[in-house]
Amino acid sequence: MFDELIGNSRVKAVLKRMLVSDRLPGAMLFTGEEGIGKKLFALEIARALNCRTPKDNEACGVCSSCVRIKKLNYPTRDDADEWTQIIWTDHPDVGLVIAPRRVLRVEQMRQIEKEANFRPFEGKARAFLIDEADKLNDASANALLKVLEEPPRTSHLILITARPAMLLPTILSRCQMIRFSPLTPAEIESHLVKTDLDAKTARLRARAAGGSMGRALSNDLVTFTSQRKAMLKVLNALVLSNDRAQLLRSAEQLNEAQYKDEFEERLDVLETLIRDAWMLSLGVDSSRIVNEDLSAELKEVAQKMDPSRAGDWILQIEDLREQLIVNVNRKITTDSLFLVMAGDVEAGKRPKVR
Ligand SMILES: [Zn+2]
Repeated sequence: MFDELIGNSRVKAVLKRMLVSDRLPGAMLFTGEEGIGKKLFALEIARALNCRTPKDNEACGVCSSCVRIKKLNYPTRDDADEWTQIIWTDHPDVGLVIAPRRVLRVEQMRQIEKEANFRPFEGKARAFLIDEADKLNDASANALLKVLEEPPRTSHLILITARPAMLLPTILSRCQMIRFSPLTPAEIESHLVKTDLDAKTARLRARAAGGSMGRALSNDLVTFTSQRKAMLKVLNALVLSNDRAQLLRSAEQLNEAQYKDEFEERLDVLETLIRDAWMLSLGVDSSRIVNEDLSAELKEVAQKMDPSRAGDWILQIEDLREQLIVNVNRKITTDSLFLVMAGDVEAGKRPKVR
């Protein structure tokens, strides 16, 4: 039942219409960022197609077919050969392939082609999920095209990716694209409170997740909290205390070895804090900001902040991110970021080491 899946009500409506009118495309491409439930939706379709006692064309969720399509039997060992085969559910007509290393292989696509040509063993339709479809290379994409050109009527292919731009146009043009949206903090939070999380933690996790349930469940809250504390210091130094020494200390800390892996996350956090203060300075209600639990601190910043600077800061952070992609010296760039933000250094005069 689609009702049990979180968020993406528009996608639910579209898929439901396709099922009701018996016009589910033979090849679909599910796009949208990681951790928002694309694979669960794909399995739900496989379930709806094979359910023994469907209700309004949706899966009942309890018959033996529905129960067996619930989970994929992933190999238990990292180096197992089974990763290069179709990974089946407990139902013989529903399976998935995933890139064993960095590439989806030709053999995997040939296996799908072969299996897709069989009639369903047990249910009404066979469904094959191709996870990480952006990892098709030219050879495996061409092998897949053979099935996509003339998919057998009883087989459905669902390609899944967070990076549709990486797919060949020939693949894209043969799939019906379904775009998934990030989940709202409220959607994530209402799911989290149904697990055994307390309300306060659920809310914090939902807000730190950036629209991804995957991230909400896996995020390390202790790290997130300390990242926010450190970045709030930067914002305070920029707006309230005008404390250059603090800005330099914060820049140094960003470059410390122990925080190396958190560098980008910290910039993300700083950006959400700036956006929140900006929104508050424009009179937006604090229930609508990301870091609602810090609204007292952020209101103080908002009162003293010139809203036009917030836009500049966000551009300056974006600019830094771009520079990091081309591999500039991170330390020099970061040291100057906060001084640029403070207005001491002109953005154009920032040292660029490429
Ligand atoms: Zn069922």
